[in-house]
Amino acid sequence: MNNNYYPWFDHVFNQLNTARAEGVLAHALILSGSEGMGKWDFALQLAWSFLCVGEGKPASGVACGQCKSCKLNRAETHPDLVFCQPEEKSRFIKVDQVRAISDFVARSPQTGSMKVILMNPATALNGNAANALLKSLEEPAGNTLYLLIDDRKRTLLPTIRSRCQIVKLDQPGTSQSIDWLEKMTAKNAETYSSAELHAALKMACGSPLKALKLLESKGVEAELKLIGRLGDVLKGKDSVVGFAETFDKHFPPGLEQFLLCQNSWLETMLRYKMTGDEQYFDGVNGAAMLKYLADRNDQRLLFSLRDELNRRRRDWVNGANFNEKLFLENMAIQWQKLMASQ
Ligand SMILES: [Zn+2]
Repeated sequence: MNNNYYPWFDHVFNQLNTARAEGVLAHALILSGSEGMGKWDFALQLAWSFLCVGEGKPASGVACGQCKSCKLNRAETHPDLVFCQPEEKSRFIKVDQVRAISDFVARSPQTGSMKVILMNPATALNGNAANALLKSLEEPAGNTLYLLIDDRKRTLLPTIRSRCQIVKLDQPGTSQSIDWLEKMTAKNAETYSSAELHAALKMACGSPLKALKLLESKGVEAELKLIGRLGDVLKGKDSVVGFAETFDKHFPPGLEQFLLCQNSWLETMLRYKMTGDEQYFDGVNGAAMLKYLADRNDQRLLFSLRDELNRRRRDWVNGANFNEKLFLENMAIQWQKLMASQ
């Protein structure tokens, strides 16, 4: 059995299992949700469950872990489960990879009554690959299930979406995430205060998996240092070039987390700005500086900084001429502008 189990998917898991038992499961599902929720593990859990042929399979639909099929899955050699992902060093799923699946689709299942194709993420399909997939989806083979993971980093073709059942995976609520973080950290014999858990969850923009990673990598402390270094730039104690040059050394969680941090800071500032409620800063690293900047600037500037950040993030995701150092300098300059206004 797949060990990475997340309670926030229980409801959807039950729904899909019921649909399957009633014979009304679509032949292609898009599992759509933001990053850091465990979509990949959930897709595996579903695939294992659907492929399980154990007589003792629990009514919950969870894979039995004992049957021939479950053993093959554990050994990662199941002939009826195929993965389609970007190859090493590529960001895209190419057309040849999608075409290669057609043999798999054409043949009969070898262990049970169905086969599963797990595409992760489907948003990585390049244009030709997406068209090839579209053709396969138009001619569904009765015993093949497509599980397409939509990480929402790019948009899936509407023609693909319209041929699939969209399964929306919502981010868990704060209390469920905090409960889970408490359990997971206790398992590793670590204890954190409620404030620390909340800070990590905030820093991870509500993603429990990322929050756990941050706690394990001391990311919350690193964010505190990072915001201090950005503060030095704003106060003129350091230069944007200096900030960019020493970034890796001072912020081990890396660029992606920096993007998330900034997004989270701006969300907090905007919420405060729109409501006047200072409680939004509770437990946030660098709260004093962020509140100071929020007070100095009008919403328009904060929104435009957030838009700029999202644009840069898209460039980074797409790998389009992305220069990390330039990006860091540019972002520091954007924050400086908040200091210069008024
Ligand atoms: Zn089984």
